[in-house]
Amino acid sequence: MQRDERVMMQSFSRWYPVVVESGEGSYVYDIDGNRFLDFNAGIAVNALGYNNPSVLEAIRRQISKLLHYSFTDFLYEQAITISEKLVAISPTGTDSRVFLTNSGTEAIEAMIKTARWSTRRPTVLAFSGSFHGRTLGSLSLTASKPVQRRYFGPLLPDVEHVPFPYCYRCPFKMDPSTCGLYCVDFIADELFSKYVPPEEVSVFVTEIIQGEGGYVPAPDDYFRKLKRLLDRYGILLGVDEVQSGIGRTGNWFAVEGYGIKPDLLASAKALGGGLPLGALIGKSELMELDKGSHASTFGGNPVACAAGLSTITEIERLGLLDEVKKKGALIMRRLSEWKDMYELVGDVRGRGLMIGIELVKDKQSKEAAVKELNQVLTGCFKKGLLVIAAGKSTIRIAPPLTIKEEDVMIGLDILEGELKKVSQQILKE
Ligand code: PLP
Repeated sequence: MQRDERVMMQSFSRWYPVVVESGEGSYVYDIDGNRFLDFNAGIAVNALGYNNPSVLEAIRRQISKLLHYSFTDFLYEQAITISEKLVAISPTGTDSRVFLTNSGTEAIEAMIKTARWSTRRPTVLAFSGSFHGRTLGSLSLTASKPVQRRYFGPLLPDVEHVPFPYCYRCPFKMDPSTCGLYCVDFIADELFSKYVPPEEVSVFVTEIIQGEGGYVPAPDDYFRKLKRLLDRYGILLGVDEVQSGIGRTGNWFAVEGYGIKPDLLASAKALGGGLPLGALIGKSELMELDKGSHASTFGGNPVACAAGLSTITEIERLGLLDEVKKKGALIMRRLSEWKDMYELVGDVRGRGLMIGIELVKDKQSKEAAVKELNQVLTGCFKKGLLVIAAGKSTIRIAPPLTIKEEDVMIGLDILEGELKKVSQQILKE
């Protein structure tokens, strides 16, 4: 840790002092040999946990043949094969094409450029509370914490943000059971009729479940209503499935659960099976950029493509999409009880294995329980559970999709113990 502090730029903060050395199944080991149950999956990357034999074999096979040859200047089969697979599972439809990247942020950059290029419209819409990456284009959309943007401007012009349907803390202070999704009407009534010419908007970029912003899923009918509005003006819908994709919610992509088809989709994180890989997938008619207009040296690295293809194939072979739905439902059943049992638990929400528990100081004021959150996370760490937060005070549960039911229960037992302890402490204060 001292060596880290001496040599690394410290523009990020670590959750707790763990130095990870290896992993097996849903557990990771630190350099002292301590074992931790993993509810983080390397920030929603390690969908198959650690040391999946098929992924390791695919990597071994590929490294013995070719490590790199730059796909956008030459051809190799691995990039084409994973792209064919992505097109087959993408909610953008089977008439889609792919651009491969190394990361989520680059997939979002490609999305912005593709949308502007294909529509010839400059403006991009995004949500407050969103996280789309940290390079300057994607950062212009990111709006979940001021520290992520402070002193980095000027950012992209022609980007407008609107409030996300965060129903537990409705930005319009409305009642979600009677509001009629006013938050979509707001876009029409305020933006499009006052200061954003809708015919100048290329794309609305959105997460389906806000990740970094606090594990907040949009309500069920939201995207259908939003899509109707966007279609009226020929505005593309670009979904950021970097965190929610590749099976995390029990569908290949979370948007499938909302009954709409996006025009563009960004994937990364779990896509590379632990190696750096991202993708922009889009309807073919949007992906006809001029030759030479967009490319990447490392995008679609053959080893990452082999690992990624093997990950997708394993998810299919193990029937993990159904498993994720089952395990997600099991967790949600238990967490719903916590809402009544513990003062600290304000809201529980999620889809599949992307679940948030929002902690509040009291249920009436809903004041974010930031200090208490850190006590819970540190307590879990000391008891051998790795779990982190999102937003101001939401615990994020994102274990490997392969996690066993008994391990889910072990993790929830540890978490519940810590929540109980800190809840009792609040009641005493
Ligand atoms: N989009 C979402 C929804 C994310 O959660 C992230 C990363 O956390 C990104 C984009 C950026 O991905 P990367 O860190 O691979 O650039």
